Amino acid sequence: MQKAAIAIDLGATNLRVALITKIGKTIKKIKSKTPHQGKTGKVITNQLIKLTESIIEFSKQIDVNVLGIGISSIGPLDFKNGEIINSPNVPFKRVPVVQPIKKKFKLPVYLYNDCTSAVWGEKHFGAGKNYKNVVYITISSGIGGGAVVDNHLLFGRGGNAVEIGHFKIDTKYNFPCGCKKGKGHWEGYCSGNNLPRFFKFWLKENKINFSAKSIKTSKDLFGLARKKEKVVLKFLEEIGKLNAAGLNNVIVAYDPEIITLGGSVVLYNKEFIFPYFKKYLEKYLKIPKIAVTPLKEDVVLFGAASLVFWPPN
Ligand SMILES: [Zn+2]
Repeated sequence: MQKAAIAIDLGATNLRVALITKIGKTIKKIKSKTPHQGKTGKVITNQLIKLTESIIEFSKQIDVNVLGIGISSIGPLDFKNGEIINSPNVPFKRVPVVQPIKKKFKLPVYLYNDCTSAVWGEKHFGAGKNYKNVVYITISSGIGGGAVVDNHLLFGRGGNAVEIGHFKIDTKYNFPCGCKKGKGHWEGYCSGNNLPRFFKFWLKENKINFSAKSIKTSKDLFGLARKKEKVVLKFLEEIGKLNAAGLNNVIVAYDPEIITLGGSVVLYNKEFIFPYFKKYLEKYLKIPKIAVTPLKEDVVLFGAASLVFWPPN
């Protein structure tokens, strides 16, 4: 009988549940919106249970042996109780995850921060397969990361190790970060949500006369870059420098053999992101391989599956 894992991507916008085999074949994948209406976070738990039930039913029809349930989740997490607590991305104080799902399905359940599990997925299913030292970086609405060092998955006190989006990478602009805890953080400049915000600030700081009214999202910015708009290309070179500064910190902190990048900003705009690494990365340590994740949008789901097949310790 074929062995498979139930992989859950618990995001702020979508819940995705997949059935993935040990050789990385996705047999089935379903999704729904993440409920934001309701008295307590249990509305999210119940929706997850519903989706998981339907995948388990399907697995019975095709004779697949489900070994466990892996969950890649938004944070912050309360590791001990297996819950999401005080997340800025959902309107509930607590979302209980591990206990109710364990109780319902009587299977092992693993819950990790999405970037932590994504790097574990990269190591077992993706470009990190042949390496002991792997870093995964996502540049999407925010910036996050996960690291495997000497084959060990790093998670820290509360699963928040490798919060690289809040590395301090700049003191020239001292731009305040969306986390409201500091200035000069990588995410504050280079994430999808912050690119338009920093663009407007950058124009002002450099006294560049350019009407930025039409630029509301990072997609608008990259659209203008594709039309070879000079001011935007100049800005993206500045972003390239800042991304390189972030990567420099990653390299000296974790000494990886390979860094993979994912997240919508990278996946859809790599031609505006990657060239600057070559130009601006410092060489204090040997520069590792740097690639786009071959697992694309599903890196987090593969991460969840890898938690089941290779439980981290
Ligand atoms: Zn920050």
